[in-house]
Amino acid sequence: MLTLEYKLDGKHTQYAAIEEGIRVMQFIRNKCLRAWMDHTDEGISKAAMSAYTAVLAKQFPFADNLGSQARQAASERAWKAVERFYADCDAKKPGKKGYPRFQKDCRSIEYKATSGWQLASDGRHITFSDGLGVGTLRLIGTRNIETFPEQQIKRVRIIRRADGYYAQFCVEVERQVEHIPAGKQLGIDMGLNAFYTDSDGYTEDNPRHYRKAEKKLKKLGQRVSRKKKGSNNRKKSRKTLAKHHLKVQRQREEHAKKLARALVTSTDLIAFEDLQVRNLVKNHYLAKSISDAGWSTFLGWVRYYAKLHGIGCVAVPPAYTSQVCSGCHAIVKKSLSVRTHCCPHCGLILDRDVNAALNILQEAIRILGHRTTAAP
Ligand SMILES: [Zn+2]
Repeated sequence: MLTLEYKLDGKHTQYAAIEEGIRVMQFIRNKCLRAWMDHTDEGISKAAMSAYTAVLAKQFPFADNLGSQARQAASERAWKAVERFYADCDAKKPGKKGYPRFQKDCRSIEYKATSGWQLASDGRHITFSDGLGVGTLRLIGTRNIETFPEQQIKRVRIIRRADGYYAQFCVEVERQVEHIPAGKQLGIDMGLNAFYTDSDGYTEDNPRHYRKAEKKLKKLGQRVSRKKKGSNNRKKSRKTLAKHHLKVQRQREEHAKKLARALVTSTDLIAFEDLQVRNLVKNHYLAKSISDAGWSTFLGWVRYYAKLHGIGCVAVPPAYTSQVCSGCHAIVKKSLSVRTHCCPHCGLILDRDVNAALNILQEAIRILGHRTTAAP
């Protein structure tokens, strides 16, 4: 899937219509969830939830204004929340099971396939034709959406962001890039001191702009809290804060994407720890650096590019990677503050993170070996 995004240019009345659509999306999603909750013992099925949207459209005229495909999408959102909850229960996950909640902060309308919207042939305008009355909006950006056959556009979303409204197109493309063999395999260790360290001994530092951006975020946050509640000034500074958040988010995404692409291009196999980032974040000491460095964003892009290049990409279980000697596999215990791995058994001396990266790579090769021998 390829995602193309354009900023939308329209009139205030059109933006208001989008807002109304977003409210209806949320309304339907929550109503579907309510229906599921009300069938306390067995819940209701995905199909029943989807059918219920038609009932809602009859019952509430404003819900009928939203196209049927978008209503379906809203029910699917509700179902996703339910599904996540079921999966958590099945996995017997400790702690909170993520019981589905009512949404209060919906930010988008979703259309499917080729229904409810129409792209102009010049690729510069989009017309939404359901009852919301959004009408035709100009697309700002140069992404050449018109070069894709319409049936390949699987989804269109209208998203509200801090600096305006955007149209996001999800295009189904089986893109494949010819991978030029790099002649090496890499394990990477995601660290706190560095962004990552690879098994060849290369270290990628934490991007500095995060820190800078974070300081500014803090300052802007304080500015908001100093303003009187409900005042116009507070509203204004809130908006500035939201815009800055958006900027930070985009920077992180850009950084992760660039890094992941370079990494995948330079190797024929990539291995990393299957980090349960969620679990780690609970530890407050680590939390900052982790959310900061955006590892999950980064690994998401690594997976994406690995698939695009058709190279191996393995997430290994994170067990003992830092404690095992990559030379002789003896366990060499060390605390977090010990930066060098010195093996008393085989005499190997290595940077702690490089040793971990080597272990990750070895484990990945072992897993792959099992996989290929197990395959028919
Ligand atoms: Zn050793």
